[in-house]
Amino acid sequence: MYTVLAGGVGAARFLRGLIGTVDPAEVVAIVNVGDDLDRFGLRICPDLDSITYWLGGVVHPDQQWGRADERFTVAAELARFGHDDWFTLGDRDLAVHLHRSMRLHAGAPLSAITAEVSAAFDVPVNLLPATDDRVETRITTADGRDLHFQEYWVRERGAPEVTGTHLAGAGSAQPAPGVVEALLDADVVILAPSNPIVSIDTILAIPGIREALHQTPAPVVGVSPIIGGEVVRGMAHRLLPQAGAEVSARGVAAHYGDLLDAWVIDDRDADQVADITATGVACTATDTLMDDPDVAAALARTCLDLAAETTR
Ligand code: GDP
Ligand code: CA
Repeated sequence: MYTVLAGGVGAARFLRGLIGTVDPAEVVAIVNVGDDLDRFGLRICPDLDSITYWLGGVVHPDQQWGRADERFTVAAELARFGHDDWFTLGDRDLAVHLHRSMRLHAGAPLSAITAEVSAAFDVPVNLLPATDDRVETRITTADGRDLHFQEYWVRERGAPEVTGTHLAGAGSAQPAPGVVEALLDADVVILAPSNPIVSIDTILAIPGIREALHQTPAPVVGVSPIIGGEVVRGMAHRLLPQAGAEVSARGVAAHYGDLLDAWVIDDRDADQVADITATGVACTATDTLMDDPDVAAALARTCLDLAAETTR
């Protein structure tokens, strides 16, 4: 079993590669839910949905999230009533949120609903929300505000200076069914090239998950989301410094610390391999820019090969 800790788009691009090189039935993705939010009375799970749309083959090709061939009839009609929302939802996307919300109201746990949605899109891997409990990534800003992650990133377009992040509700949350087992029974655990602060750390913040990563006999291998000192997309370069981490392949490895047995970085950062190896983490450099599915598959293979050579 290949167990992947996953955020949204970076993880989806990696998972597409992984299922190009191993049996998808052997892949479990534990997905961040800290970005989840309620709009119009509906529960929206951006990271679960990004992965579902990618692996279901229906993602918007340029945007890399949301649905291809999307339309916005409902959003336009809502604007008629003054609901000109900052979190625009397309019609196709809305159907997923409607289904999810109806099922949540009926008492179904998010993990069960995620399985239903995955099956409806023929997603070939097992997607597990990190938790069925409600948690929320909160961003504190230099101007003294406490924002939901999506208020910071979508409504305010990532403009405010960030002074801290935390996962509200984490203290009383439990890992979703199957999450701890997927870590303890894994042959390999992979940290996807996702945002370390608001995708991976928010999974690790659920009590029991970090402990399971320490306990698992499986090697833990990660992929750097930073290439040449820059993000491929998103805001990790603005969040890493406030967490005390350097914005580099080496900096993210140091941030994960002793969770990692192995770390795969980009060819452009090959001069950092020696530094990382010196910390006791096996390291190799390869092409990690996954615009091409074959590159993503080769990257996944490199991760598995490096993990196989690594002792815990
Ligand atoms: P989000 O929730 O949609 O922002 O997605 P993730 O948290 O899964 O991933 C965001 C991170 O993925 C960013 O830090 C990106 O730099 C990184 N990323 C995206 N695409 C790639 C890629 O092709 N290669 C690498 N190495 N990192 C990537
Ligand atoms: Ca996300």
